[in-house]
Amino acid sequence: MGLLTEGTPLTWEETKKLAEHVRQHGIIQFINLYKRLKDRQGDVLKWGDEVEYILVKFNDEKKVARVSLRADEILTELNKKELENPETVKSLWRPEYGAYMIEGTPGKPYGGLLAHFNIVEANMRHRREEASQLLKADECLMTITSFPRLGCPNFTDPATKPTPEEGATRSLFFPDDAVFSGHPRFKTLSRNIRQRRGEKVAINLPIYRDKNTQIPVDDSYKYSSAALPDHVYMDAMGFGMGCCCLQLTFQACNITEARTLYDQLTPLCPIMLALTAASPLHRGFVTDVDCRWNVISCSVDCRTKEERGLAPLKNDKFVIKKSRYDSIDSYLSPQGEKFNDVPLIYDPKIYQQLVDNDIDHLLAQHIAHLFIRDSVSLFSEKINQNDEEDTDHFENIQSTNWQTMRFKPPPPNSTIGWRVEFRPCEVQITDFENAAIVCFVVLLTRVILSYNLDFLIPISRVDENMQNAQKRNACMEQKFWFRKEVTTQISPPEANECCKKGTTNCEPKNCDVYTCMTVNEIINGKDGEFPGLIPLINTYLSGMDVDADTHCTIQQYLKFIQRRASGEILTTASWLRKFVTEHPSYNKDSKVTEEINYDLLQTIKGIQSGELSCPELLGYSTMSKTKENIPSALSLSNC
Ligand code: GLU
Ligand code: MG
Repeated sequence: MGLLTEGTPLTWEETKKLAEHVRQHGIIQFINLYKRLKDRQGDVLKWGDEVEYILVKFNDEKKVARVSLRADEILTELNKKELENPETVKSLWRPEYGAYMIEGTPGKPYGGLLAHFNIVEANMRHRREEASQLLKADECLMTITSFPRLGCPNFTDPATKPTPEEGATRSLFFPDDAVFSGHPRFKTLSRNIRQRRGEKVAINLPIYRDKNTQIPVDDSYKYSSAALPDHVYMDAMGFGMGCCCLQLTFQACNITEARTLYDQLTPLCPIMLALTAASPLHRGFVTDVDCRWNVISCSVDCRTKEERGLAPLKNDKFVIKKSRYDSIDSYLSPQGEKFNDVPLIYDPKIYQQLVDNDIDHLLAQHIAHLFIRDSVSLFSEKINQNDEEDTDHFENIQSTNWQTMRFKPPPPNSTIGWRVEFRPCEVQITDFENAAIVCFVVLLTRVILSYNLDFLIPISRVDENMQNAQKRNACMEQKFWFRKEVTTQISPPEANECCKKGTTNCEPKNCDVYTCMTVNEIINGKDGEFPGLIPLINTYLSGMDVDADTHCTIQQYLKFIQRRASGEILTTASWLRKFVTEHPSYNKDSKVTEEINYDLLQTIKGIQSGELSCPELLGYSTMSKTKENIPSALSLSNC
């Protein structure tokens, strides 16, 4: 989730007073870092994945499943190996927001060889096994995006109680004890975000309306005026940051390539969000959305009323359109410039300071825009820094701008180059699915760079796509703005009417740059209009010398992506929705009861271990039960 500096957190009042200090020094630190590293060349492609996990505890007698608050204990064990042998460990483990979450990455990044695709899944499996060895017999490590009954009475083990009147979160549902306490960052963020905002965060997800769904869905509206009666109301950072995702980081060969990748992957964010949708269940309800994105966005929305445009600007500087967690607001590469059609908010003084230090317009406005935010977590030991060497103040703001993409300068004194992070994907149940998604995105980056592909569309269209991507069954039912002509970089958007900002009706015929397509058309192609991402990848691969094993692995992964996109198999979100609504005890009331939750998580446990086959989700019907053969999707199908 970001930088973890040790130390003593300041109160919100103290942090607030130092907001300008952090900003000023953060900018100076960025300028120094940029001067030192802008010409850094010759780094090679390296990349890695990050998987977030939830610890679940089953009580088979009572048929209940809880989140197990043992992440701290388990992490301490997991980190021992890294402390002893940082060079040779196969996996690295980090805390996450929830006291029931952990995050794992490969011990070393992967490189540019296609053969590395053969070890991605094995490494994910290794991670799952390594952490699972530390669990008790009734616990299970799961890659589920949202725990279906998070925030319901007694959802934790051991049992904990929310404390609406005191503490960091003050939620009606989510106890402070469910926030990771091994590091002060997480509770500090929760408290400061709430205090900065001036009230608790408010998340309202539309309920999925079934035959017997009651409106109001519960009595939240009696306790909070922020609760909408036909929505699932949530009031804590934990409902969002307590969700899991699958992220990727790429090292580029230099800053220019990093800027290109940042831009070109941006229009793919909503598409990948729709394709990986995995979180329709929140706080014990079936909702009408499929993804976590807006939940997290609202869960860390620290904007004041003034900044949200609900009160005239008096104490604050700007009206800000989005939360700190949202899709990016501007492209960074020269090709992207003409598609930056959303006015960017930033402090002109900071922008000027960056420009005066020879930072170009696009990068200067990007950094200045990130720096409209205040620090929401500051440690006393870190107030005074050496701006020539340290980058903590820069990182403080950078790492609490949780956006779809992140542009990352090299860390000080390291061998790491310029990187970009791809952050939209929801995590899937099995290592096979997660590996397939990871390899698909990595292959796309290779294709983009090798063929100089251009996926850029106006940033306002990406924003629209982000919202559509989260709708129920978006992968099948929604259409997304996407560029048709990806192999050339002609036709600026100004060239024709329908691309002009403000035009909302989609008239593909009038628009020769981009059009509306389904996820299926984008991934698999649309006759005469768009080649499709998988066919583009296959063209790229046909020119490569690939060994048989690697070829087989890649084709399995691509086949899986193809099937998800075409609807031949379900998205995780659709499968979860179906499981709940077809459960024999489901009352058509949009409720995920203890019993349904237990059965669902038991089924997921069976699927992830390979003991249960789930063709509608994974696209194969038989599965070997031997451990070596998991994921058998790979070994059973013909290549
Ligand atoms: N768990 C967050 C998500 O689902 C991401 C936290 C992080 O940045 O690591 O997007
Ligand atoms: Mg994380």
